[in-house]
Amino acid sequence: MTPLDLRPTTAAPETALPLFRPEHDALRASARAFVEREIVPHVEDWERAEDFPRELFRRAGDAGFLGLRFGPEVGGSGPDVLAQAVWVEELARCGSGGVAADLGASVDLAALYVANAGDADQRQALLPPLLRGERVGALAITEPGAGSDVAGLTTRARRDGDGWRLDGTKVFITNGSWYDDVVVAAKVSVADGAPTEDPHGRITLFLVRADDPGCSRRRLPMLGWRTSHTGELVFEDVRLDDDRRLGTIGGGFGSITAAFAWERLAMSLGAVAAATHTLELGIAYAQQREAFGRPIARFQVWRHRFADLHTRIRTGRALAYRGLRLVAAQEAGEDVDATEVIRTVAMAKLLTQRLAFEVADECVQVHGGAGYMMEYPVQRAWRDARLGPIGGGTDEIMRQLIAKTLGL
Ligand SMILES: Cc1cc2nc3c(=O)[nH]c(=O)nc-3n(C[C@H](O)[C@H](O)[C@H](O)COP(=O)(O)OP(=O)(O)OC[C@H]3O[C@@H](n4cnc5c(N)ncnc54)[C@H](O)[C@@H]3O)c2cc1C
Repeated sequence: MTPLDLRPTTAAPETALPLFRPEHDALRASARAFVEREIVPHVEDWERAEDFPRELFRRAGDAGFLGLRFGPEVGGSGPDVLAQAVWVEELARCGSGGVAADLGASVDLAALYVANAGDADQRQALLPPLLRGERVGALAITEPGAGSDVAGLTTRARRDGDGWRLDGTKVFITNGSWYDDVVVAAKVSVADGAPTEDPHGRITLFLVRADDPGCSRRRLPMLGWRTSHTGELVFEDVRLDDDRRLGTIGGGFGSITAAFAWERLAMSLGAVAAATHTLELGIAYAQQREAFGRPIARFQVWRHRFADLHTRIRTGRALAYRGLRLVAAQEAGEDVDATEVIRTVAMAKLLTQRLAFEVADECVQVHGGAGYMMEYPVQRAWRDARLGPIGGGTDEIMRQLIAKTLGL
């Protein structure tokens, strides 16, 4: 009998509807080689230490992987958002959610906000060091009292002469305990220039540097993402010149909602790639572990379960790639229905984050007792994947958004 080949496809698929060009395939090969050389061999040590060297930002930046969606005028290594998507997918296969999250937050959150909301001078000053990996970026929206309800944030920026004074606390901020530059969402009063009393219209973005007097921070211990430097930030009477304001007064909510599309899409692409990697771990274990005289992978229950998981991953990838096509077309200046982008990306995030966790759960199961042991990486995949349905907007908020765009 011909042995079953249960290995998942890892190459860029869907050739019938090409999304990536040959240059993206070449990039995928070099990104995969970088991840396998610079990250994978160290993951077990880094996870045990709950840390990884900051130097990794620099190495990824030197190799051009942090600037893939930015043009050369700001130190980027373009070509486009598809190249960034390739990097997100390959990085997600590194086996450490925390490493991928920290590297990703500097670019897919902080740098993207600077690029979208900042003016030309701010982009020139702030982006090159972030894209070279010399500085570490973060984005601080969530607070102890306001996460899903962004309009409820209480961090305040008050006028102080020709500048501002910032006060407030932010929590669960990726790179929060070792950032150099953080984009902070704060509320400005109408008396200080906000265009409306509506809380959404008062949200304004500021760029804060870690060495600004009045900034403090601490790292937060977490269930997963153990290598991530996610933390809590406190701003006490932090003085900022007006050139630290990113965008218009009251324009912050618009910037946040615009950037959510990429954040959620990047999470979807990452979840599909991570789920594929986790399924490879599960299948490899099932193929070598024997019970009742044969490999576990040959029991029909597991063949069918793996077939289901492959099918669901393929579905998740198709939806994420649909979102990527829309975002790429939007960035290329094509006339794209904005509601369709928001809905598709929310659907992709909703589908793929649960999927990645459920794939990890089945793969823990097929490991039996070994799945519960720290010795096997599948436990980490399970812990790391649990963040997906929470971060970047919870499953419940995605459903709210989808229902709203469907007129429900
Ligand atoms: C590891 C990690 C990294 C993160 N990184 C960042 C970061 O870099 N920057 C940043 O700004 N934030 C970050 N976050 C914050 C994250 O985006 C929030 O945790 C998330 O948006 C949920 O907000 P919350 O924690 O305040 O939960 P809450 O808003 O308090 O929600 C609690 C529960 O109530 C549900 N709920 C809320 N509203 C509704 C509703 N209307 N209908 C039904 N159910 C509802 C939620 O879905 C959730 O299940 C991070 C979080 C984690 C855990």
